[in-house]
Amino acid sequence: MRAIVMGAGIGGLAATVSLRRAGWEVLLVERTRRFTEVGAGIQLAPNATRVLRRMGLLDAVAALATRPAGLSFCTWSDGAEICRYALGAEAEEAFGAPYLQLHRADLHRALAAAVPSRSVRLDTTVVGIGQDDTSAHVTTASGERLEADLVVAADGVRSASRRWLFGADEAVFSGTAAYRALLPAGEVAGLGLPEYAVWLGPDRHLVHYRVRRGDLLNVVAVFRTRSGRESWTARAEPGEPVREFAGWDARVVTVLERAGQVFRYGIHTRAPLARWHLGRVTLLGDSAHAMVPFQAQGAAQAIVDAAVLGDALTDVTPDEVPGALEGYVRRRLATATRVQADSARAGEDFHLPDGPEARARDARMAAHAAAHRFAPQAAAWAAGPADGPTAP
Ligand SMILES: Cc1cc2nc3c(=O)[nH]c(=O)nc-3n(C[C@H](O)[C@H](O)[C@H](O)COP(=O)(O)OP(=O)(O)OC[C@H]3O[C@@H](n4cnc5c(N)ncnc54)[C@H](O)[C@@H]3O)c2cc1C
Repeated sequence: MRAIVMGAGIGGLAATVSLRRAGWEVLLVERTRRFTEVGAGIQLAPNATRVLRRMGLLDAVAALATRPAGLSFCTWSDGAEICRYALGAEAEEAFGAPYLQLHRADLHRALAAAVPSRSVRLDTTVVGIGQDDTSAHVTTASGERLEADLVVAADGVRSASRRWLFGADEAVFSGTAAYRALLPAGEVAGLGLPEYAVWLGPDRHLVHYRVRRGDLLNVVAVFRTRSGRESWTARAEPGEPVREFAGWDARVVTVLERAGQVFRYGIHTRAPLARWHLGRVTLLGDSAHAMVPFQAQGAAQAIVDAAVLGDALTDVTPDEVPGALEGYVRRRLATATRVQADSARAGEDFHLPDGPEARARDARMAAHAAAHRFAPQAAAWAAGPADGPTAP
């Protein structure tokens, strides 16, 4: 059984690993000339790390990751702790796998190392996808036609494959953008920052955590704005982040002052779809369900997609591929759509203006944390049997 996977982001790489484990011969086709991942942090919740363990990749990924003991939500103006949730060993025990924070490049490298180079075609842009009753194919920019029993389109938030499969549909600007930076942890050593925190303020929130075994501080500072280009490499104007977060707790401002090179990323999403597959072609990852990153679940959902896809396509014949894809979508679509909505709602809640609504939110969060060990987004970490792979 032969598959073509379009796009070598985290979703496409994870799908390639998963399908190969399920016995498929896979060709991974990527438009860039080299495997690339930006210099930024990523959090991997236990729903993702359980899958990485199944793939035999957890040790390699965890070796360079940090394992925060907890998550603090703080008030923007003075850093007062609104509430704190458990992570670390408690989360690992409860969810069967660790909560990790790491450098994206480290994750990407670990996934790429599990794919043999003969299975990869770099510098190859897909310009069309087609199929008939017995096979599917992609057409490349150089005019080649590559055929397989299955095509997985993991082409990200700007997905063209969605349009080819389901008609006109574009990425939607979320009304928020993020400044992101990585700085040596030593630069902020004396500030007394919490280990891992989400600071909440009017129209803004800021997340920081450590990666590369604690050597680097990853900062993501989100703000509402009318415009934002979706680019991992667009740079913020010097001084722009400090101006945007003026008046925040001095520690936050100091972090932004010391950040050096800051990038500005316009956050885009895709509208939920009623289905992800057509015949023997399916979407996976951001192409299927790009979401705002306010519950740190986009890549995790892509990784779970990959595992469920591999399970659904184990021991199938060519004729059974469309039915198996239906099974994959049935097991994934409702959950991913719910996480998309929960992530958007989290943003609304994070960005309330000072006043009665924000005070009520803080009281609600404190009451929730008093009654629950884990943050509300942990609902997505507990992938049940109907929702994907459970711990091995
Ligand atoms: C600021 C920010 C912070 C985030 N933090 C987290 C986090 O902490 N945890 C988490 O789980 N998620 C997080 N996410 C979400 C996560 O980054 C994405 O969900 C994830 O990277 C999506 O992976 P993907 O493989 O689906 O898409 P992508 O990574 O976009 O990969 C798509 C690939 O397809 C290739 N491609 C596109 N078109 C073609 C074509 N025509 N032909 C060939 N190749 C093509 C592209 O070059 C690319 O390599 C965050 C997102 C943002 C914006």
